[in-house]
Parts: sequence; C-alpha cells; structure tokens
Amino acid sequence: MLASILLSRKGNNVTLLEQNEKLGKKLFITGKGRCNFTNVCARTEFLENVVTNPKFLYSAFEELSPEDTLKLFESWGLSAKIERGKRAFPSSDRSSDVIDMLKKKMTDCHVKVRLNARVTGILIEDGRAAGVSFSENGKEEEMRSDRVIIATGGESYPSTGSTGDGYRFAEDAGLKVTGLLPSLVSIECEEDYCATMQGLSLKNVELHVHDGKKEVFHEFGEMMFTHYGVTGPVVLTASAVIGPLIGKKPLSAYIDLKPAVTPEMLDTRLIRLFDANPNKDVKNVIHELYPAKLAPVIPGVACLNPEKKIHDVTRADREAIISATKHLPLTFKCLRGFDEAVVTKGGVSVKEIDPKTMECKKIKGLYFIGEVLDLDALTGGFNLQIAWSTAAAAASAPEEEPEETAKD
Ligand SMILES: Cc1cc2nc3c(=O)[nH]c(=O)nc-3n(C[C@H](O)[C@H](O)[C@H](O)COP(=O)(O)OP(=O)(O)OC[C@H]3O[C@@H](n4cnc5c(N)ncnc54)[C@H](O)[C@@H]3O)c2cc1C
Repeated sequence: MLASILLSRKGNNVTLLEQNEKLGKKLFITGKGRCNFTNVCARTEFLENVVTNPKFLYSAFEELSPEDTLKLFESWGLSAKIERGKRAFPSSDRSSDVIDMLKKKMTDCHVKVRLNARVTGILIEDGRAAGVSFSENGKEEEMRSDRVIIATGGESYPSTGSTGDGYRFAEDAGLKVTGLLPSLVSIECEEDYCATMQGLSLKNVELHVHDGKKEVFHEFGEMMFTHYGVTGPVVLTASAVIGPLIGKKPLSAYIDLKPAVTPEMLDTRLIRLFDANPNKDVKNVIHELYPAKLAPVIPGVACLNPEKKIHDVTRADREAIISATKHLPLTFKCLRGFDEAVVTKGGVSVKEIDPKTMECKKIKGLYFIGEVLDLDALTGGFNLQIAWSTAAAAASAPEEEPEETAKD
C-alpha cells in the first residue's frame, strides 16, 4: 500500500492486486488492534532489535527512517502517540486509522486496486519482469507491467492473506529462499508442570537458555504457562533468537523465578518461614513464597515429599527448593506453528536483492519488500518499519531509460 502511493506520486500508473476482499487485513490485527506502526528509538538500538540481516536495512532507512515514517503519516493526517520504549501508535488506539490513512492516500494518488485478485505467477521475459498472471474471482488473467513489486508478506497468520506465495514466486524465478520458521511465537515444552500451571502469568522473572557450551539467551520480563508450554513477551523474544536452535542443539533452559533474590537471601527467608511453622507439612508452608499454581510444583522439582514435616526438612532439602526456584527447568520441544506466529523468520535471501532499491539482482524490474524478505525483528514496531522502509526503497528505484526505438 505504501509502495503504491509513493510510486503513484512519481507519476507511475500503479495497480495493486490483493487476494483478500479488503486491504490491510493483517495491519488491522497488529499491536492487538492498536497497530504499533513504528519505533522511533535511536538507529543503533533499532538495528539491535532486528534479528536477521540488520545491515541490509541501512540504505532503506536512508530512504525512509522511523522518524520519517512518523512525520509522513502525520502529514497524511494520522494522529500518533509515542508510548513506552518509543513505540508509535495511532492516538485513537485503532489500527483502522492507519489503514484508512493509506487507503485515502491511495485514492488521492489514483492507485488502482483490484480485490479478490490472487497473483499466481510472475511473467519473466528476456531476464526481466514483464507482469503477472492472476486469478480474479476465479477468472485467469495476465497483466503486463514494467515493474512487479512482491509484497506478499510471510507465512504467519495465513488467515490474513499471507499464505507464502511470494516465496514460491521467488523460487520459480530461480532465487534462493532461506529456511522458513515461525518467529515471535510460543514454545512447546516437555514438562508436564506447564499444563498444571496453565494460565499462570509471572512478571519479573528471567528466562535463561544454554546450548551446552554457553548461554545463548537471557531476558528479564513477563511470561505465562499454557497447556503445551510457555508464552508471553520473554518467550516470544526467545523464539526469535533461539528458535533455529531448537531440535538442532542440546538446549537447556530454566526460569529464575526470583532473579532479584540471591540464593543466600532465599535461604534466610526459608529458615525464617520454617522456624515459624515447624509442625506443618512442606506443602502447607511453601505457598507463602509462591503463587498458588506454582507452589505445588516446587516440591516436585526439588524431589521433596510435599507431606514432609517442616522439622524434618534438611539443609539439602532447602538447597533443592532454592535450586528449583532459581533454576526451574524447561525442555523446549518445538516452536508453535505459523498460524500463531507474529512473523516468519527466513525468506527471499537478501543476497539476491539490491539493498538500495529492493530490486532483484538477477531479474530486472522484479522487487521484493516487507516480510517476504529474509528480515525479521523483535516486537515493538520494528517489523512494520521494515515493511515501510523497504517499500520506500523500492519506490525510490530510478526509472529505467526507455529502450531506443528502431527508426525507419
Ligand atoms: C498478530 C500480529 C500482530 C502484529 N503486530 C505488529 C505490530 O504491532 N507492529 C509491528 O511492527 N509488526 C507487527 N506484526 C508484524 C507485521 O504485521 C508484519 O511484519 C507486516 O504486516 C508485514 O507487512 P507486509 O506488507 O510484508 O505483509 P502483510 O502485511 O502480510 O501483507 C501482505 C498482503 O499480500 C497479500 N497477498 C499475499 N499473497 C498474495 C497473492 N498471491 N496475490 C495477491 N495478494 C497476496 C495478502 O493478502 C496481504 O494483504 C504483527 C503480526 C501479527 C500476525
């Protein structure tokens, strides 16, 4: 949508083909319906939040940076606000404002839109893009054009229209597509206690992941247990970083349930608590230290009989409780699927693409922008900015000189 506006403004005749019955279906659900459309943090911080191929974005950011995007959208009538962590949202908290702004601008710029029009293939003639074949309401057609811009998104949330077609177009054109994985997604775990604690949300915990040799991830924040494993902000971030390692490396993960408390401090608390309740069972005392769904799990992880009398609890038992608290183990089984993932990791290899213009190096006139590229970032408005900046880069590509016509 943004690329179509920017290209029309340069005097191009642009048609946007959308397979859905309306525009911006995925945009509508972004940011829990509020559309966190960019992040105006410093450039270096922004790029630290791009997990895959951040350097590829340097030129695209020259064309349209997060600040440029904010100013551009405001100049197009969007009222915006900046929240915690420099996240930008429409002031109304309605993603539909972003969609309506883009739609209005498309109308003003005379972009032609064909809905229910699914592109089925790219026409390539003499090594350059010559148009597309598409099916509109079941009728097969061809459309010839000087340039073709593929902005089909990734494979996540296919119900919004991002069904992975762009990857097939790229492969048909002989381009490399790197391995695809769901990212910013929940993780399934082996431990039965995840299901026992289903619905329990923990704030201020720390997730650590080791690959057998070194720590490959740690982050402080919020997470939640589900019937299959774990989810929540810290887990989604972990999925983006260590997702490709699951099943490939012997990962061991654990949650530090009380990162602000040292083992010694915890031991002091336990001693105080146990001294005050010598004749009670472990299970009837321990709940004072943990949320209700977590308390019954701790003795199990610590291999401690929950019916043991407190006056029988040994120093080794206390150490086991401390270990379970500071190192609650998680064994990652797999990532959840594309239908639940916020973005797709992997995509059209950036080696195939000119970073200044998003044009294919091998096939002139063919461009790839947005999530279909092998670019992905953490949550916070970074992924949409990747889409805006790469769209602006594609629209900035210079017009090709018309071929000389033969004279009589
Ligand atoms: C639940 C959820 C929340 C998110 N929240 C945020 C957020 O707040 N901030 C953020 O930065 N990012 C967020 N993201 C990620 C962000 O939405 C995507 O990275 C971004 O939309 C990618 O833009 P795109 O234009 O490349 O693809 P998309 O937005 O997926 O658009 C692709 C379009 O192409 C159409 N299409 C696909 N194939 C064809 C075909 N063959 N023919 C015709 N049309 C086709 C699709 O129907 C679709 O309309 C979120 C994602 C999800 C799933």
